[in-house]
Amino acid sequence: TSSFSSLPDAPVDEIFSLNHAYATDPNPNKVNLSLGVYRTEEGQPWPLSSVEQVEQELHSQNNPARHEYLPIEGDREFLDHARDLMFGFNKNDTDVEKEAKAKKRIASVQSISGTGANHLGAAFLAHHLKPKHVWVSIPTWANHHTIWELQGIERKGYPYFDASTCAFNFEGAITTLENEAEEGDVILLHACAHNPTGVDPSKEQWKKIAELCQRKRLFPFFDSAYQGFASGSADEDAWAVRYFFNLSPPLEMCVAQSFSKNFGLYGHRTGAFHLVTNGSKPAETELVRKNLCHIIRGEYSMGPRYGSTIVKRVLGDSALRAQWQKDLTAMSSRIKRMRQALYDELVRLNTPGSWEHIINQNGMFSYTGLTLKQVLTLRNEFHIYLLKSGRASVSGFSEKNVAYVAQAIDNVVR
Ligand code: PLP
Repeated sequence: TSSFSSLPDAPVDEIFSLNHAYATDPNPNKVNLSLGVYRTEEGQPWPLSSVEQVEQELHSQNNPARHEYLPIEGDREFLDHARDLMFGFNKNDTDVEKEAKAKKRIASVQSISGTGANHLGAAFLAHHLKPKHVWVSIPTWANHHTIWELQGIERKGYPYFDASTCAFNFEGAITTLENEAEEGDVILLHACAHNPTGVDPSKEQWKKIAELCQRKRLFPFFDSAYQGFASGSADEDAWAVRYFFNLSPPLEMCVAQSFSKNFGLYGHRTGAFHLVTNGSKPAETELVRKNLCHIIRGEYSMGPRYGSTIVKRVLGDSALRAQWQKDLTAMSSRIKRMRQALYDELVRLNTPGSWEHIINQNGMFSYTGLTLKQVLTLRNEFHIYLLKSGRASVSGFSEKNVAYVAQAIDNVVR
């Protein structure tokens, strides 16, 4: 017998297998609401205009160094831009000295996109912080479970989604963390556009979560996969991260940053991981950076260069950056329009139930509130693919299919 014959069965990723089922479904009316990727009105992928401009420039230059290795930590210029975008540095109205000091608190390295940044952070903290638990929202992006399980850290859940109101269960979250989280535990937080629910804390609620982390000495781990993509404003979507970062006395925390959605660079695996020290000794930041590089060298040597080259060019050029802002606005506003269109159709059909949450939720996803049975009927009878939890990727809607989907929802809930 093989040494591997008694392997445990490994779970199949629901999102990617659903996407495959959609791709092989011959029905012409099929609708894909599974994968968290941006799609146009025509249901097509959309390379951002700002990104295409850089690509054309890169292809026209005959740069013989274009396939060379990056340093282990990644492209330093890219990392500076990534950090500045996340933490809001290099604005005209800031105190230069204070900002230089603040930057010294942050150890930034390039990662294999957001997933890799989550993994690197989990690996680093499992080794060096040794938390007893990591607290994840119920529900959360399923990969958070896999990533932390692979590090052998016990996962615990804090209530997040209130099914009766389809809103954030702030009281439940705060009470559980207050009573049960232990000093040194990691608290995983979605920086904006919570996946899968589309429900975020308000600014006042974020302040209370920050106060709790500070008082109980919990370690905030921000996962930022939708900065600028959610609201159209990179500053607005980084509000919580920046609020935590600017607290006094300074809090230690980290951020996993993805450029998959906000630059449409999904397959190029472009991201960064930032670990923030409290700044008591500047040498500590360098020590953190070296230890992160040690893990990187042993795991993947360094991040890929194509996507990070594109991001640094866009963020480093004012005209391209202005174009990128237009691209963000185009994506986020189409998604908001589709939320409204679905809501309007359901109201027009007098579909039983309340659907306000569809327009109140934020970002790529809507937690529709549909039950498993309803989701399966939508898939089997109407060829509409959403996750078993009822999560729909809003960018899968278009002017052409929204009436069809609303009618199908109306059918399954009656
Ligand atoms: N974190 C969350 C919450 C996500 O929704 C995603 C993407 O769907 C990611 C991280 C990471 O994506 P990627 O690895 O493509 O950057």
